[in-house]
Amino acid sequence: MSRLSGIGVSAGVAAGPVARLASPPELPPDSGPEVDPDAAVTRAHQALEAVAADLDARASRASGPAADVLLAQSMMPRDPALADAVGKAVAAGTSLPHAVHEAFGIFRAALEAAGGYLAERAADLDDLCHRTVAELLGLPMPGLPEPGHPYVLLATDLAPADTATLDPKQVLAIVTEQGGPTSHTAILAKSLGIPAIVACASSRELADATEVLVDGRAGTVDVEPDPDEAERAVLAERERARAVAASSGPGRTADGTPVKLLVNLGSAAELAAASEVDSEGVGLLRTEFLYLSRTTAPSVAEQAESYAEVFAAFAGRKVVVRTLDAGADKPLPFVDHGEEPNPALGVRGWRLSRRTPGMLADQLAAIAEARRRQDADVWVMAPMISTPAEAAEFAERAHALGLPVAGTMVEVPAAAIRARQVLAGCDFASIGTNDLGQYTLAADRMAGELADLLDPWQPALLELVRTTAAAGRELGKPVGVCGEAASDPLLAPVLVGLGVTSLSMAPSAIPEVRAALAAHTDADCTRLAEIAVAASGAVEAQAAVVDAAH
Ligand code: PEP
Ligand code: MG
Repeated sequence: MSRLSGIGVSAGVAAGPVARLASPPELPPDSGPEVDPDAAVTRAHQALEAVAADLDARASRASGPAADVLLAQSMMPRDPALADAVGKAVAAGTSLPHAVHEAFGIFRAALEAAGGYLAERAADLDDLCHRTVAELLGLPMPGLPEPGHPYVLLATDLAPADTATLDPKQVLAIVTEQGGPTSHTAILAKSLGIPAIVACASSRELADATEVLVDGRAGTVDVEPDPDEAERAVLAERERARAVAASSGPGRTADGTPVKLLVNLGSAAELAAASEVDSEGVGLLRTEFLYLSRTTAPSVAEQAESYAEVFAAFAGRKVVVRTLDAGADKPLPFVDHGEEPNPALGVRGWRLSRRTPGMLADQLAAIAEARRRQDADVWVMAPMISTPAEAAEFAERAHALGLPVAGTMVEVPAAAIRARQVLAGCDFASIGTNDLGQYTLAADRMAGELADLLDPWQPALLELVRTTAAAGRELGKPVGVCGEAASDPLLAPVLVGLGVTSLSMAPSAIPEVRAALAAHTDADCTRLAEIAVAASGAVEAQAAVVDAAH
């Protein structure tokens, strides 16, 4: 038996034979002008329609957000501008498959140039291009394998079209060569409850039908494991999952030290389900997601309405509202982001209030108004704060508008390093490990290729968490974590050992994190934190904590 490792992004244990996502068709050499250009264009139309119809058919088998994603995707091949671009390339003497490739390339470049969420859709276009070319050449459709029995899915990375109709009864686990902790694969696997490992480059070597044992918590793939041991591991995991699902109540370590378990909320659609989850409230309300499709700024009254809806769903519980984090990976159509060579280091989040102070004033007024109407325990915090002066200015403005608890997101290393001074001027801190990781390791959070640097187990990131939490303890002010790191049940006791007092995560992650905290004493947490920070790298930190925790 040999062991491969990657980054575990969705907990769980599964064993079975691997099957690989069919790879995209190879483009044949360009054979030059089509003999009958009109007939070629007609074939292109038919192929694009066939691809769209296939997506529609999958949408009808899927449900919820997955169906929406597929329906939105099926509109792309039907865009007349795409068929026109194919026609132009054919008329210019390009062979049909290459003309299709070129036409999709034009659209791809336009999306990439738009940046942010639109740029992320570029991978969807690649997928549609591959499907159209496969259709034209009569090759197998790229996509999920159908071996006729449950399997462990191997892929380079996963596109939404691959995963939207993914059947959790057939797919026992997912292992990808690329992708990071915040990739589409990670988010999807977590929401479906399928064990998953990303950034496992050596999975490329696995031959079809090889038996593996996947541990999504430890991030390991055992190749050709002993069948009895594999069965025992799967059964033990099933037993553990049953116990975890039955757990309830507020977060506590084994000694009873409280650690608030909160949910992250990113869309109105999640609200009903998230409010049903046994949590102590919302630790991060990503307000920009309420306005992604708006082309004009929402009025104070409209905003107050949306916030009041959230506060009503969480009546009696805590709701931490983050003010607009527009810019970089979250551009908003109604915010003037200008031309920035480096948007992640540009005028984003709190910094936008330099340009348009009225926007923040309106938002705070709307939150205050919604708070007056409902009885949630409303806190506010600002994203991308860099200095103590910024933290104090935000808190003053929030207090002046009648919002009594105002804090700072710690996402910039400078804010973590100077956490004592930052916390002195505001009421609490919430560590955004996604951005803090990106800025500490100087690794773009959208770059799947740099997933190893973005791993929340990076000891440098953990040290900054410790500095921030220590400042909170000294001043008696709460310090939580609301980045993806908080949803990792193995990392959660480490974060508590570093001193954080609350963890905010995807609602589905709460039971596992609750169970992980309950299984560790305060002294265990402190010891695991020391082990993680002392490690030489992220993989070593995780491995050392796995060893010490079991
Ligand atoms: C973070 O940066 O960790 C965070 C929670 O904010 P977002 O992911 O929305 O940038
Ligand atoms: Mg952030």
